[in-house]
Amino acid sequence: MANYKDLANLIFPNITETIEDLEKRYPERNLPEGAMVTRFAPSPTGFLHTGSLFTSLVSARFAKQSGGVFYIRLEDTDTKREIAGSGQSLIEQLKVFDVIPDEGYISDTCEIGQYGPYKQSNRSNIYNTVIKHFIEIGRAYPCFCSAEELAELRHEQEEAKVIPGYYGKYAKYRGLTPDEYIELIKSGKPYIIRFKSMGDHNNKIKFHDEIKGDLELTENDQDIVILKSDGLPTYHFAHLVDDHFMHTTHVTRGEEWLSSLPIHLELFDTAGFKRPHYAHLPVIMKVENGNRRKLSKRKDLEAAVSYFLEQGYPKYGFIEYLLTIANSNYEQWRDENLDKNFYDFHLQFDKMSLDGALFDLAKVQNISKERMAYKKASVLEAEVEEWAKEYDKDFYNKIIADRDFFTSILNIEREKEKPRKDYSKYSDIYPIISFFYDDVYEAIDKNALEWKLEMEHSLIKEVLEDYIETINLEVTEDEWFNNLKELAVRHGFADNIKVWKKNKEAYKGHVGDVSEFLRLCLAGRKNSPNLYCVQQILGKDKVISRIKEVMATL
Ligand code: GLU
Repeated sequence: MANYKDLANLIFPNITETIEDLEKRYPERNLPEGAMVTRFAPSPTGFLHTGSLFTSLVSARFAKQSGGVFYIRLEDTDTKREIAGSGQSLIEQLKVFDVIPDEGYISDTCEIGQYGPYKQSNRSNIYNTVIKHFIEIGRAYPCFCSAEELAELRHEQEEAKVIPGYYGKYAKYRGLTPDEYIELIKSGKPYIIRFKSMGDHNNKIKFHDEIKGDLELTENDQDIVILKSDGLPTYHFAHLVDDHFMHTTHVTRGEEWLSSLPIHLELFDTAGFKRPHYAHLPVIMKVENGNRRKLSKRKDLEAAVSYFLEQGYPKYGFIEYLLTIANSNYEQWRDENLDKNFYDFHLQFDKMSLDGALFDLAKVQNISKERMAYKKASVLEAEVEEWAKEYDKDFYNKIIADRDFFTSILNIEREKEKPRKDYSKYSDIYPIISFFYDDVYEAIDKNALEWKLEMEHSLIKEVLEDYIETINLEVTEDEWFNNLKELAVRHGFADNIKVWKKNKEAYKGHVGDVSEFLRLCLAGRKNSPNLYCVQQILGKDKVISRIKEVMATL
């Protein structure tokens, strides 16, 4: 009479290692008390989701702030959903946001660390060693059900209005003897391996989640698939083995996994492995027509991190935004510690949102705008250049043709106590400043400038002529503006908008109108960065020639 050991040897004749061997190969990590080992475990199924960036950032921070280890594991056991090359590109995008692993998967040809391989498809022997053990102790078995049989079972359960799934009396191949299994295998019938659950869905189990607190969950009783027909394990089983042998102390993952936690707990207990701590992170949601829903890969541009990269949101703005989602006290801390690096903030599990985090693009923009405004022009120049090199070639060529010129443009009303807050992303910059470049300026149709309708062209011309004649840019901004006011008054304009408002009939307009004439001449539109600074950068000759060019159309 055969026993489970015989069955295990028949299924895995080449697995000679034991769990003890694996324990020796992957010994405890030598880390100080309290150091956390966390991981990010993406599946290479497409682009980096904003929610995944959030999860990975939080996971990395917990490891770093506790002096622990953050590693990346590529969960590529779902070969049907795999998109070639996406694993590597996920890692590259994470790097942009400073999420850099201490160890783990770096690319298909590079890994760092002693606990690998870090790509699940290269870990078959390790999984099979544990599955073999499960079979030996009677806690896993081959299941020979065909897809049709499973569909039939589902139908039968629907009719009977019972909990669906492969469990208890519905688990057709659960109770066979080793001899019966062996006979079926020898007959050549295809099979997969299932876990043999000892749970009961009428029971509740207690569990403490680092974020959600004390939970009461329904015990697992499903005989889930642990080894698929392609020879690779399912997520549930692979994560058990990996998080154990890689010595993860805290599994930080999206809360969509909370419902399968009872399966994971039973697997850990069956293997005799110490359970890790779990922290189920909020999912990023969006409000649509008053309803909350998950950020969707298909519907929402903001679901893809690449969108923020293309648009040129500065990484520090986006990271800080994610930190505000992560911990409710982050913003207050930031206001009180503006001079510190945002990574000095200590994340806490108990300050995490419990019911999903709402994605707020306006807030991403505000934070980015705020932070960009306080960057030194030379620092911002380098950031913008790097972005433009990848995403806006035209702009890039302009920048590198004369970096100092570009930096001086960026420096308009910057590097002062209250800097101007014009830009919330790098792509905002060029449309606002492109007129500085002669070829862009030349392409503006000067006959289509939007002069105020009530302004006679002859009057505009007269004012501009006077401006050219009396121009003096070698003065301070206040002096220049005083001169402009005097010029305005000479032509019948009020030198102040309030005065004009009180008695509009007495004036042709106000000094703001005169500034607008200059803006239209120099920038081709009504709004521009600070007019005094614009002229300082263009220089007197160019200011005059641009005004003359426009006057010729009046
Ligand atoms: N591969 C899983 C996912 O992409 C990872 C879940 C986990 O972190 O354990 O959702």
